[in-house]
Amino acid sequence: MKRRNFLKVTAATAAAATLGGCTREQIEGSKSIHVNRQRKVTLKLATSWPANFPIMGTGVDRFAKMVNEMSGGTLKIKVYPKNILVPALAVFDATSSGQIDAFHSGPYYWKGKDPAFALFSGAPLRMVASELNGWMNYGGGYDLWRELYAKYNLYPFIGGNTGVQMGGWFRKPIESLEDLKGLKMRIPGLGGEVMAKLGVNPILLPAGEIYTALERGTIDATEWVGPALDIRMGFYKVAKYYYTGWHEPGSILELTFNKTRFDSLGDEHKAIIRYASEAMSAQMYTEFMDQNARALKKLKNMNIQVLDFPKEIIEAAKRAMLEVAKSQSEKSADFKRVFHSMEEYYRLVKPWTDISEAKYLSIR
Ligand code: CA
Repeated sequence: MKRRNFLKVTAATAAAATLGGCTREQIEGSKSIHVNRQRKVTLKLATSWPANFPIMGTGVDRFAKMVNEMSGGTLKIKVYPKNILVPALAVFDATSSGQIDAFHSGPYYWKGKDPAFALFSGAPLRMVASELNGWMNYGGGYDLWRELYAKYNLYPFIGGNTGVQMGGWFRKPIESLEDLKGLKMRIPGLGGEVMAKLGVNPILLPAGEIYTALERGTIDATEWVGPALDIRMGFYKVAKYYYTGWHEPGSILELTFNKTRFDSLGDEHKAIIRYASEAMSAQMYTEFMDQNARALKKLKNMNIQVLDFPKEIIEAAKRAMLEVAKSQSEKSADFKRVFHSMEEYYRLVKPWTDISEAKYLSIR
């Protein structure tokens, strides 16, 4: 809107309120005149998920609805599921170049561009969602993320969190480190690198090919997310051993904008995106909690066994994680800085988590 009009409306509202001659509705009405005169903007947002993908996809649709409502229709986010405007994993480049305005995906997909990007999703055997959010907001995480993404003309927000992911579906039980040797497992990211140190052969497969590969024994195991999304993939039909998780203890999802485009928005629209992204994030985390619980209940009737990895595997994975971080830090100064910042925060937050949530959860 024109600034002069805004000032006129505000002055009129203030004068009327001071004089007491204005009803609450009239004051609210004046405010909405202000919002409605904001220049109308439409942003194109592509996701890495199929249409109507539960929780992650539907969460983004809700975000677009929130933004529309909060802006009085002056800011519209047009959401495109994967492969409509750009392929699922081309959203980063398409937003960076300005072909589209924003995307919803996961930072670990871009570790080929900068190994440090994998860390913005979290790290194996490290912080959970609440701790990672603490690091992002108050421990320097956001500053690092935005600094490194600025090189690609991108401006990221936290776009949800999956919570603790399950360790995966195995065709045979895993009773020792020896059982991992030579095992073919679909597992991406830092978790895959850690597994490789333990003798696993990590394999990357598109989502649509995992079930058949597991069914035919082309792979011996796969991780995916957690009960809510795993049950839809049908893995329980062909792999009966479902292991608890350690490799993705709270994966951060991202809602990332083309920086030039975001900077060009009015202050109100920027604020609406910021607050709506926080609301979306909280909702997604909560919905994962709810949907995982409901799906687990169903899975337990599907003749599967939920198991923990043996302690020797977890201890070996902790050592392997440090080796992976060390070799990545030698190769990438960015990785070294981000990992150092995370480790500092982890050392700060863990003693508190240990005597608060972890303690309580172990006794309730
Ligand atoms: Ca996963």
